[in-house]
Amino acid sequence: MIRTRFAPSPTGYLHIGGARTALFSWAYARRHGGKFVLRIEDTDVARSTPEAVQAIIDGMNWLGLEHDEGPFYQMQRIYRYKEVIQQMLEAGTAYHCYTSPEELEQIREAQRAKGEKPRYDGRWRPEPGKTLPTPPSGIQPVVRFKNPVDGVVAWDDLVKGRIEISNSELDDFIIARADGTPTYNFCVVVDDWDMGITQVIRGDDHVNNTPRQINVLQALGASVPQYAHLSMILGDDGQKLSKRHGAVSVMQYDEDGYLPEAVLNYLGRLGWSHGDDEVFSMEQFCQWFDLDHITPSAAQFNTEKLNWLNAHYIKQADNGRLADLVRPRLAARGITPAPVPALESIIALYKERVHTLNELADAAEVFYIDIHPNAELLAQHLSEEAKPALADFIAGVQGVNWEAPAIGALIKETVAKHGLKMPKLAMPLRVLLTGQAQTPSVDAVVALFPREKVLARLAAAKI
Ligand code: GLU
Repeated sequence: MIRTRFAPSPTGYLHIGGARTALFSWAYARRHGGKFVLRIEDTDVARSTPEAVQAIIDGMNWLGLEHDEGPFYQMQRIYRYKEVIQQMLEAGTAYHCYTSPEELEQIREAQRAKGEKPRYDGRWRPEPGKTLPTPPSGIQPVVRFKNPVDGVVAWDDLVKGRIEISNSELDDFIIARADGTPTYNFCVVVDDWDMGITQVIRGDDHVNNTPRQINVLQALGASVPQYAHLSMILGDDGQKLSKRHGAVSVMQYDEDGYLPEAVLNYLGRLGWSHGDDEVFSMEQFCQWFDLDHITPSAAQFNTEKLNWLNAHYIKQADNGRLADLVRPRLAARGITPAPVPALESIIALYKERVHTLNELADAAEVFYIDIHPNAELLAQHLSEEAKPALADFIAGVQGVNWEAPAIGALIKETVAKHGLKMPKLAMPLRVLLTGQAQTPSVDAVVALFPREKVLARLAAAKI
């Protein structure tokens, strides 16, 4: 059975790169009817926080990336890493090393002086026929992995192709520190093994760890998973994605008014493709997703494309759902929508023309607060010749049937009577009613308001 995992270190929020890794791992498991495991790699106690764990889980929940197993916490599995270290010591695939940090520095210094790459020289490494130094008393040893000395460690990376590293490049890395705590690379190996992970999908900042991890797995007699190392994500400007580029935390996208399905669709296309398909549901994605169509080159973030997708999904979304998402945004501005116009009907009218939920909230806001149209904007759109037409329209409002077609007809009649073009009346109506010169169809906007409210707002023209 296919088993994938997402293994974030809880040192901050769930960022866009992490979310994409999680999405790909999740989708791969879904595609193959497998299991998706969530593992929290919290052994860096100085940098891991419960808030970050929560932020990661919140981000995954928001995106709907449900895990089938976990979350597992590495800090709760220390006993297990120690157990495996003990087994390796007994099997001779790991050994105690008493080299002190000072001694290690001297070794490195000497190697550097000779122009060699600094590395542990294997002085405590047991070999047949080799006499080891006597362990110094009072020193707690570290445990080192006995890395093979010959041959290569190789894997067919599902994204990057074949990668081969000569074992002579790898020294015997520390798997347990002097205080007995296991090191990061070792915990990952034990976990991937115990959790039966079949495909490790992760960022390519981990490529350098892979040969060591494979060697340990082989020493344990464990089967080696397949690896897929995803290239990094660059910002709009081609630079490494960072806070400078705006939202890098997934939850910031929620705050900025993006729908999770838009972010997911966007992330799905970030470094992966299915022909020319740009818009797809997660159901569709899970049927299509494979590791063969991941681009090995870095993917570049494109905010415009994300906005376009978000606009698309807002248009598709149910008005009631959008209202539920917009209401808290209005509440944050101290606004409780009045019963008329219903938030849903404003949304129905505006959702065709916005890119974010926050823009929907902006549009809805003016229907519920007192507005004071900018005098300059009004002067710009309300010409002297249009004033009598506006006055006529105001008079007509009293008796017109209160629905968009009848209001539209009244506007048309009024401009025709005064020999004006449509915008001459439509524009000042927009500005007076919403404070904005750009709105959906003016008759529909007028019809949203209660009749009295229209009269009150048009009175601000003082004609
Ligand atoms: N904990 C690592 C990280 O957050 C991921 C390790 C892995 O996927 O193997 O970068």
